[in-house]
Amino acid sequence: MANAELNEANLKSCLSSVVDPVFEKPLSVSGFLKSVTTDDSSRVSVEVELPVPSYPKESELSELIQATIQQAFPECQDVSVKYSVNIRGKQSGGRIGLNVKNIIAVGAGKGGVGKSTVAASLAYALQHFGARVGLVDADVYGPSIPHLVGTSEKPVAQEFHNKDGQAVTRIVPVEARGLKVMSMAFFVEPDQAVIWRGPMLHKAITQFLQDTEWGELDYLIIDMPPGTGDVSLTLSQLIDLAGAVVVCSPQKVALLDAVKAVQMFRQVKIPVLGIVENMSGDIFGRGGAQEKGKDLQIPFLGEIPMNAEIREKSDSGNISELLTEELESQQYLLKVAENTSIEIARTLIEKPSRPPLEIL
Ligand code: ADP
Repeated sequence: MANAELNEANLKSCLSSVVDPVFEKPLSVSGFLKSVTTDDSSRVSVEVELPVPSYPKESELSELIQATIQQAFPECQDVSVKYSVNIRGKQSGGRIGLNVKNIIAVGAGKGGVGKSTVAASLAYALQHFGARVGLVDADVYGPSIPHLVGTSEKPVAQEFHNKDGQAVTRIVPVEARGLKVMSMAFFVEPDQAVIWRGPMLHKAITQFLQDTEWGELDYLIIDMPPGTGDVSLTLSQLIDLAGAVVVCSPQKVALLDAVKAVQMFRQVKIPVLGIVENMSGDIFGRGGAQEKGKDLQIPFLGEIPMNAEIREKSDSGNISELLTEELESQQYLLKVAENTSIEIARTLIEKPSRPPLEIL
């Protein structure tokens, strides 16, 4: 390649074997290389299109690209690398007409491990990165999302026109600081006990997804009820989930519950994206979930420390402030969201629904 002419075709072919440091795939496989141009003064501009809203190794990838070009074309004067984002997804809700790229279930083996807190902060963290996000509270036995996001509004029904021009009534989700939210708590009084039988549960979840005007979303997060498989089964029949995030705390007992949750998702054919260790720290210990993840061959998505600011912000309905204020827990919450979106994109790159673009 040392004597090849500096032109776009040769540049593309020299970059096709560059392996990006996050997904560890050559650019020819991942399809990240959007364009390469060169001008009369031997300057090169490269545009990389990332599949995730936050990519942790941009400068490392830029250096790799620059070094590869400069080695192959010593006459090259300057290489500039620009990044754009096009969040990839498998159109999870396509079957029921949802325009949502990725639907993520957040589950746990038992209650009290901070599953709803993680679901809501994951939603706000992805929004913080610039993604369009919705949050469904499917924890019908103890819906707590409206409380966490601090809304007491009720969703309204509105008339829309479908593809065929017919008028249809749909529910408009409540907006809580930019996040679209649906919850059973909007429809029942706080002290009203609801006994759910299978078919009712199925109907409620279906309405939350199918009859709600979500618009176009990059991610829709579903806060699952702890333990049981009913809602997972319904979801797995209804939509093509991007996958499930399993939340657990570091204690031994909680880890066993997490294993059950993983098995439950696997049984209903929902891929498990990874495991999050919540409330990690002195009291419960640390690192248990990471170990368990290894045993189960599941990626570790990160840890969230046991932290008074998380409890205060979530219990006072200000969970979004964990992402907008510079608090100690922010970096952990962002890391979990970044890793989750990376794991989703990884499954899409490894098993693309359409062949990657030919760049040679
Ligand atoms: P689950 O959905 O698993 O039942 P919640 O998300 O409702 O659990 O959390 C239970 C309680 O723990 C809440 O009071 C919440 O504020 C608190 N909590 C959750 N995660 C943390 C954390 N990392 N640090 C401190 N408190 C937390």
